[in-house]
Amino acid sequence: MELRIVDHPLVAHKLTVLRDERTDSPTFRRLTEELVTLLAYEATREVRVDRHTVRTPLVQTEGVQLSKPRPLVVPILRAGLGMLEGMTRLIPTAEVGFVGMVRDEKTLKPSTYAERLPDDLSGRQCYILDPMLATGGTLAAAVRFLASRGADHITCICLICAPVGIAAVTELLDDLGVPCTLVTAAVDERLNDVGYILPGLGDAGDRLYGVV
Ligand code: URA
Repeated sequence: MELRIVDHPLVAHKLTVLRDERTDSPTFRRLTEELVTLLAYEATREVRVDRHTVRTPLVQTEGVQLSKPRPLVVPILRAGLGMLEGMTRLIPTAEVGFVGMVRDEKTLKPSTYAERLPDDLSGRQCYILDPMLATGGTLAAAVRFLASRGADHITCICLICAPVGIAAVTELLDDLGVPCTLVTAAVDERLNDVGYILPGLGDAGDRLYGVV
């Protein structure tokens, strides 16, 4: 798996405000969208395009257009939903699928509770949205799920990663056979003993949508 840490002052600034415990949910949601748009710019460097001819008001010229099938954006519910708007702002014609995963608070193991995806993802470039890469189990399971349906190019966008999560995903996806890239704004220090990233930003779902 290729790791891409986006090193940009605007990314660092927005992430710092997200980390701040005083940032309220409406501001947190807006900043998450803005941050994802910046990360998406890096994450879509390899998005497939075809040559396309257009006529300007003056002459005909060569350009490109997004290839078909369209890229598929897959937010991992619930917190990944807060990243969707920021991603589709950059690729409005992308299709969107959903995967709902929870991790057991004790075992930290992921399980799928909802899924709405095309059965056949052959030839698709997929973009998985999951804000916090902690233990890595959920993300690795989601990547495997998409690859098992035929996705042939997978990019994960995470706001913050824990080193142990990156190591786990790398190991769990060692035999994937599909190019996989992880794009993030930061690699933090470590996980605490209940699986939260330190310094992190707390529970991303709760900060986006409140405690339910
Ligand atoms: N999920 C979160 O929302 N925050 C963390 O720190 C780890 C996992």
